[in-house]
Amino acid sequence: MKLAIALVVALVGAPALATPLVVLDPGHGGSNPGAEGPGAKGTAANLHEKQLTLAIAVQVAAKLRDHGIAVELTRTDDRTLTLRQRTEHADRVNADLFVSIHANASPTRTQRGYETYVLTTKGVDIDARALRGEAMTPRPGVDAEIGLVLDDVERGAAQWEAADLAARMQRALRERRGAEGDRGVRQDSDHVLLGATMPSVLVEVGFIDHPIEGKQLGEAATQAQLATAIAEAIEDRLAD
Ligand SMILES: [Zn+2]
Repeated sequence: MKLAIALVVALVGAPALATPLVVLDPGHGGSNPGAEGPGAKGTAANLHEKQLTLAIAVQVAAKLRDHGIAVELTRTDDRTLTLRQRTEHADRVNADLFVSIHANASPTRTQRGYETYVLTTKGVDIDARALRGEAMTPRPGVDAEIGLVLDDVERGAAQWEAADLAARMQRALRERRGAEGDRGVRQDSDHVLLGATMPSVLVEVGFIDHPIEGKQLGEAATQAQLATAIAEAIEDRLAD
């Protein structure tokens, strides 16, 4: 088994030669507008989360592409997507990172600030999967047992990288948006990934329903600040 672990380390530790690929996921869309801005409730003129997330994601994509990073968006228009469709996209293209962009809301409309969630795969039990005979990620030339260990090791590495990306995200947002809005890195059972295995985070860029912050989020200057911070964190993570 020692040999297997050495092999695992050698394989997992191998430097990636290809251009890194990031999947950006503008939250909500279509029939799912997400949270609402501080304007007149229920009116089309009011800023909705689905518009804000797309506007920011498009800018993040442009910045990353300028720096030689390949980017795909889960949506580029106002369409409805399920959570699973979003992560399936990332899996299909074998993304290096998955970043979902959202905006917050609070029942009293008094909260403000930004936070980043480390997304986790919920309750994946490697041994149970193996017992059920489910196929692990197929790897040419790697036998099934080592494949199992690889899956496990990679999941651990993905979690670590996601936490690192989340920390960088908060740092970059702090620089642009001020330390008082820093709500920190979070992880909870409501923010789970459905299926994706790459390092994945969800950033809540601010409270769209807050009377002041919500208004700021509708402004081009704020959206540019946020996009710069998110792109910077992703670039830093990929450069490491
Ligand atoms: Zn959302």
